[in-house]
Amino acid sequence: MVPLLDLSRIHKPIQTELERAALDVLRGGRYVLGPQVGELEKALAAYCGVKHVVSCANGSDALLLALMAFDFQPGDEVITTPYTFFATVSAITRLQLRPVLVDIDPATFNIDIDKMRDAITPRTRAILPVHLFGQPVDMDKLMAIAHKHGLHVIEDTAQAIGSRWGDRFAGSIGDIGTTSFYPTKNLGGFGDGGALTTNDDALAERLRILRMHGMEPKYYHKFIGINGRLDTLQAALLLVKLPHLDGYAKGRRANAHRYNELFAKLGDAVTIPVEIPNAYHVYNQYVIRVQRRDELKAFLAKRGIGCDIYYPVSLHEQECFAYLGYKKGDFPNSENAANTSLALPVFGELTPAEIEEVVSAISEFVA
Ligand SMILES: *Cc1c(COP(=O)(O)O)cnc(C)c1O
Repeated sequence: MVPLLDLSRIHKPIQTELERAALDVLRGGRYVLGPQVGELEKALAAYCGVKHVVSCANGSDALLLALMAFDFQPGDEVITTPYTFFATVSAITRLQLRPVLVDIDPATFNIDIDKMRDAITPRTRAILPVHLFGQPVDMDKLMAIAHKHGLHVIEDTAQAIGSRWGDRFAGSIGDIGTTSFYPTKNLGGFGDGGALTTNDDALAERLRILRMHGMEPKYYHKFIGINGRLDTLQAALLLVKLPHLDGYAKGRRANAHRYNELFAKLGDAVTIPVEIPNAYHVYNQYVIRVQRRDELKAFLAKRGIGCDIYYPVSLHEQECFAYLGYKKGDFPNSENAANTSLALPVFGELTPAEIEEVVSAISEFVA
C-alpha cells in the first residue's frame, strides 16, 4: 500500500499550529478579507520576490482574473498548450478569447517555444505558459519572444509554486503569475484557494477590484468583476504551511531523484522526467512514460499503489472545445503524453521503502 498523496502525513507535524490558527479565525469573526488574508499576501510576495500578491478563491479564478485584467477584445488570441488542466484553456474561452494551442516539448511536457513563436499572429495578445508538474518553462527564451512581439505573459504556476527559473520564482517573471492552493498542490490549503503575483502596481490594483465584483468604492462598479475572494480561514491555515514550502519541495525533489536512480536500472522501459538546466523543478507530480500505461495503472492499483494520469485527454480533443476546429493528430506530442504518462507518489513524506515498493512493482510489470 502506497498512497499517491497522503495529506495527513504532511499535516501531522503542524497539526497543533493549524488547529490554533483555525480556531483564531472561528473566534475572530472576520471570515471574509480578515487580517490573515493581507498577511498571507505579504508573506507570499516576500517569498516569491514580487511586489504584489492578490489572493483569490481558486487557481481557475486566478487565471480568469489575470485575463480580465487586460483590455483584450473578443476574438483576441492567447497562446497556450493543450496538455494542461482544463482551467488553463477554459479561462480563455470564458472571456470569448481564442485559445491558440501549441504542442508540447515531449521531454518536459511544457510548451514548445519554437512552435509557440510560429503560432503568433497579428491577433495574438498574450502567451499563457504552464509550468507543468512543477518544472518552469524556459522563461528567458519565452520572454524574449513576448517582448519582441509586444505580448503579455501570464504564467500558470498552479503546479509550480516555489519553483525557479535561474534565481527567479516561477510566476514572478511574466506580467502576472497565477497559482492554486487546491489541497494537492505543493502549497495546498484545506479547500479551494488561489493567488495572483505581479510586479505591476496598476495591474495589482485592478486585480484587487476585479476580485470584488469590480467594485471601488463600495457599490460603485468600474468593471464587471467576480466574487473571487480567498476565505480568511484558508489564509490563516496557509500562513502556517508557507514556511514549510521549501522543505516540501526538497522532499519531493529527493524522492524524484531516488526514483530516477532506481529506474535507471530498468533501461529504457521507463522514461523518467527530465530536468532542464536552469530549472528548479518542485515535482508537484513525478511523471513517467511507459508503453501499456493503462495496464500498468491497473497492475499498480491491484497492488495498492496509488498513481494517476495527468491528463488522459489532450484538451483539443475535449468535446466542449470541438468548436475550436482542432482534430486528432494536430498535437502529436501532447496526444502521446496523454497515452503514456503516469504520475507516481512523490510527496516528501514517502519512506524509502515505499519508493522501492513502487519501483519493484513497476520493474516486475515491465520485465
Ligand atoms: C490546479 C490547476 C489549476 C486550477 O486551480 P484550481 O485551484 O483547482 O481552480 C489551473 N491550472 C493548472 C495547471 C492546475 O494544475
